[in-house]
Amino acid sequence: MTAEQNSFDVIVAGGGPAGSTTASFLRMLGRSVVVLEKERFPRFHLGESLLPCGGEVWDELGISDEMKQRYILKPGARFIHNESGLTQTYYFEEAIRPDHPFAYEVPRADFDNLLLRRSEALGAVVREETLVRDVHFDADGVSVTLRDQDGQSESLRAKMFVDATGRDTFLGTRLGIKVSDELVTTNLACFTHYEHCNRQSGRDEGNITIVLFDGGWWWFIPFKGTVTSVGCTLQKEFTVSRRGLSAEQMFMAALQATPVMQELLRGATRVRPVDTTGNWSYRCKQFYGERFLLVGDSAAFIDPLFSTGVLMAVTCGKYAAHAIDEAIRAGDFSAERFASYQEQALRGADLFKGLVHEFYSRSLRPLLVRSATHPATCAAITSALAGDVYRPAMWQGLFREGFSVRAVDSLDLNHSETRS
Ligand SMILES: Cc1cc2nc3c(=O)[nH]c(=O)nc-3n(C[C@H](O)[C@H](O)[C@H](O)COP(=O)(O)OP(=O)(O)OC[C@H]3O[C@@H](n4cnc5c(N)ncnc54)[C@H](O)[C@@H]3O)c2cc1C
Repeated sequence: MTAEQNSFDVIVAGGGPAGSTTASFLRMLGRSVVVLEKERFPRFHLGESLLPCGGEVWDELGISDEMKQRYILKPGARFIHNESGLTQTYYFEEAIRPDHPFAYEVPRADFDNLLLRRSEALGAVVREETLVRDVHFDADGVSVTLRDQDGQSESLRAKMFVDATGRDTFLGTRLGIKVSDELVTTNLACFTHYEHCNRQSGRDEGNITIVLFDGGWWWFIPFKGTVTSVGCTLQKEFTVSRRGLSAEQMFMAALQATPVMQELLRGATRVRPVDTTGNWSYRCKQFYGERFLLVGDSAAFIDPLFSTGVLMAVTCGKYAAHAIDEAIRAGDFSAERFASYQEQALRGADLFKGLVHEFYSRSLRPLLVRSATHPATCAAITSALAGDVYRPAMWQGLFREGFSVRAVDSLDLNHSETRS
């Protein structure tokens, strides 16, 4: 590699949705960029249900047509309360601003590869099986030490560094700025894939189903074809009282506690071993510093109840690319100039985090399966579920002020009609 190829405008660590999208937008702005990814793609990843408002980014990246061909459409989100049987489906076309009436369910191995190859097609240098090991900032730029696919050490230079390493939180851990969210009471996810589940039919086939039960909640995400992603996130009290169980035993214990899920999986065949992950819901104290930005899960991760991770990763990837482009044009890489990037990122993250907190404090649970009787509330929830959180809107104020606590005061899960 020549000295010229050793030097870039931007080095991006991590080739997931945050890293590849940041790289693609940087290329569209004419900046040179290298993406360093420790795995070889395609690789398995959690986070398979997308939100409609990602559509704006897919359009700008030029991948909307390909996505329509590859993936099943997700026109809505169905919530079922296991203990009461209450069911409600939110259709994105009924959002307050229904300009993105559907999303997609995506096997992430394929989807992340599509995004990464797109950044490459736009001119990003993509190096897989390449681990970022160290980063050093000085007055003139950034030096990154990597280990390449042959195990060799190498150093690259750039004007800016983007940490898009996901929940590995490369910089957040090094800088000691990662703070966990104690209000979220789930601490473990068990997940797998099944074939031939009892899906909904017709246009509803691609809806995500979220099943709420006393020990946590389940996701049921149907892919195009016959495979469905199935997983549960479990409350601390559920997992602590079953400490020592294997991943499979924990999954089966949760299944035993959820007749609604048993019904969805009746006759289905498991096609992946059960796996687990934990320790989510954290935020770094700051998403920026002199010559660096944190994007996607490396900056913050919110409990995945509302399928928000990919939307936040790609939206913030776009914001990050613009912030960096402006810094390069100004020749100014001081930390202060990136504060507005964090403000943009938090606009969506705070609203989602507020909703998740409402859910775990239980006031949002009844409302999710009973809001049909309150049309304005239902439309506001639909808009949040569609991910319409980055453009200002009146209804967002209702969530930020915790309206659901007041609105659900009179609701009772054990006394209601069902709407599906
Ligand atoms: C249980 C669960 C369910 C979820 N469900 C959903 C969902 O339905 N919908 C949704 O939108 N989101 C969901 N998410 C969240 C979603 O997975 C993430 O928000 C999303 O993947 C974030 O993208 P990212 O690019 O920031 O991180 P990642 O996708 O994790 O990408 C980071 C990349 O960085 C690479 N990397 C890490 N360290 C290094 C290093 N030192 N050097 C080089 N490369 C490195 C990794 O290999 C990885 O490829 C879920 C998450 C969990 C835990």
